[in-house]
Amino acid sequence: MSTLNPRQLEAMKYIDGPLLVLAGAGSGKTSVITRKIAYLIEECGIKPHRIFAVTFTNKAAREMKERVGKLLSGKNAQGISVSTFHTLGLTMIRHELEAAGLKQNFSILDSDDAQRLLADLLHKENSPAADRKEAMKFIIKKISDWKNDLIQPVQAVSVATTNEELIAAQIYEAYQRHLRAYNAVDFDDLIAIPTRLLQENQAIREKWQERVHYLLVDEYQDTNTAQYLLVKLLVGARARFTAVGDDDQSIYAWRGAKPENMIQLTHDYPNLKVVKLEQNYRSMARILTAANSVIGNNPHVFEKKLWSQHGLGDRIRIITCPTDRDEAERVANDLIHHKLINSRTWKDYAILYRGNFQAKAIETQLRELQIPYKISGGQSFYSRAEIKDVMSYLRLIINPSDDSAFLRIINTPKRGIGPTTLEKLASYAQQRGVSLLTACQEFGLAEALGQKKALVTLQEFAQWLEHHTREILETTEPVPEIRKLLNDIDFEDYIREQAPTPQGAEARLENINFLLTSIQGMLNKAESEDDKNIEAVIRKLVLIDLLDQQAEEDDSDRVQLLTLHASKGLEYPHVYIIGLEEDLLPHRNSIDADTVEEERRLMYVGITRAKQTLTLTLAERRKAGGDFRSTMPSRFLDELPHEEIEWIGRTSTRTPQEKQRIGAAHLANLRALLK
Ligand code: ATP
Ligand code: MG
Repeated sequence: MSTLNPRQLEAMKYIDGPLLVLAGAGSGKTSVITRKIAYLIEECGIKPHRIFAVTFTNKAAREMKERVGKLLSGKNAQGISVSTFHTLGLTMIRHELEAAGLKQNFSILDSDDAQRLLADLLHKENSPAADRKEAMKFIIKKISDWKNDLIQPVQAVSVATTNEELIAAQIYEAYQRHLRAYNAVDFDDLIAIPTRLLQENQAIREKWQERVHYLLVDEYQDTNTAQYLLVKLLVGARARFTAVGDDDQSIYAWRGAKPENMIQLTHDYPNLKVVKLEQNYRSMARILTAANSVIGNNPHVFEKKLWSQHGLGDRIRIITCPTDRDEAERVANDLIHHKLINSRTWKDYAILYRGNFQAKAIETQLRELQIPYKISGGQSFYSRAEIKDVMSYLRLIINPSDDSAFLRIINTPKRGIGPTTLEKLASYAQQRGVSLLTACQEFGLAEALGQKKALVTLQEFAQWLEHHTREILETTEPVPEIRKLLNDIDFEDYIREQAPTPQGAEARLENINFLLTSIQGMLNKAESEDDKNIEAVIRKLVLIDLLDQQAEEDDSDRVQLLTLHASKGLEYPHVYIIGLEEDLLPHRNSIDADTVEEERRLMYVGITRAKQTLTLTLAERRKAGGDFRSTMPSRFLDELPHEEIEWIGRTSTRTPQEKQRIGAAHLANLRALLK
């Protein structure tokens, strides 16, 4: 275990009053928190259940718990509360149900549920709204802002200055009434309710202040007003807390986070001790220079210096690719190549992006190359319902024994096969030792089912699928045949019926199109006859799912895919940041709203996740809504120090022999993984 440096030790041992650790990325702020928890328990004799630590994401909370667990013997770690602000708020509400005006088993509306309720209310109260979608967006944001600022509906009505705000305030009032009636809360309430309880109820306040002996807050720069107050009220006048943060990593202003809260601390607590850390233990020096150089373009409240004792490291690579598909391909190939040459593990690599939509091209490439990956904080493209449906048809086509694929599609779209029929079919198939699909065609099924109509439907389905299977497997152009199959079942209509909104339906159809185009792309570029067939392509796409089922959830060895926002606080030996283009990073909205500084902090967060190497990529043309659009390189690329970077053009320098060698080595690797 590493030894803390003198400043870190000072921060760990200071427990007499409020403490702020203000320091740049990778300087050991989170390490101070975890070590301090151990110190409080082992050296200061504080009971674990009276120590509370809060951080920003569930992933960060899990990691912090793990780190603390390793520092303490198992028993000592029991009872410490390490959680997100929202989970802490939820715990408090559960303890104070009556005061919160809630009944047991209250429900927590997710953002979809909340939006649905708001849409109903908007419809009722304000029927002529011409552009309801825009109005909805405004209202959702406004209500969330009010809650984060602890503004109640009555106050909202009085502070509203425009007509839109007034409407939003009225809807807010109705929304709260409905939540109450449904015995429900939303996400923002998880913070707002306990904060208000502490503010207004002395007994509750005293009880919690007594219980919370010491509070530690990570990523303090991203607290909003309600969270700031929650901390303040929980620690009370004794103010036994440690907050750690980095104003340069404040990336949640759009959700109401106020980095000014760090300055506010110095006003609220005149005896606040501030410790600054300057040594970065995470990154090679070049990466750090790049990070410092980019963030140097933002104005600064607190001056910070960061230095590293690690060596210079490789230059930062910037790879320009012709299109976004090429970008994905390049990243996946580069990653495999790097891994094999340097004998690393998959989990040493992270691919970061600005928007979740960027992940699907990467996912598809990783699948094609059989690289196991994990998406954090977002849905995998391949676990979307519409993609699973299409993939299930394809799975059944290449493998008629795939019963789970059969069960997924037999009623997608509806064919009127009831659960009783399926049960009979399954038990017949089991008796006979055949697959569900084969069972549909067997003579004996008639007796087992005892029902003519269901039998005919199953037989027709099997025959129909057999026909399409032949068409798809026996042609040299399988993708148009797959489209025919989907047309045959009116899949597009089915999607339109299922999707909650027309936009949702379009997005799903676009996803299906993306899948089919990807399959076509894989067929086109297959180099050997073995790869150039639809069965091989589908097998490749589904193999990763099989690996997933085998692998243990979290400690498995996989490449990490996540948004820049979700990457905060985490670190990886090798990092790729993709899509370094104007309008993407920085995001279009931030350019329009003149908030590029926040995007620059996001870029800083991304760069500082890397320990050893950093690769940035961009596409010259990107597909958006069916068309290719030309892009401009991100302004952040110009802000990197020229002497530390290496620009790489579009041409691949790898010879066919080299490719083959990498391919063979990779296959051996994969076999080992599957064993
Ligand atoms: P971020 O701002 O990204 O959240 P951080 O300031 O919280 O970063 P940590 O994650 O705590 O930084 O630490 C970064 C890395 O440096 C970790 O791998 C940690 O183990 C290591 N580290 C921290 N302090 C020391 C030390 N004194 N000696 C050696 N390694 C250290
Ligand atoms: Mg940290």
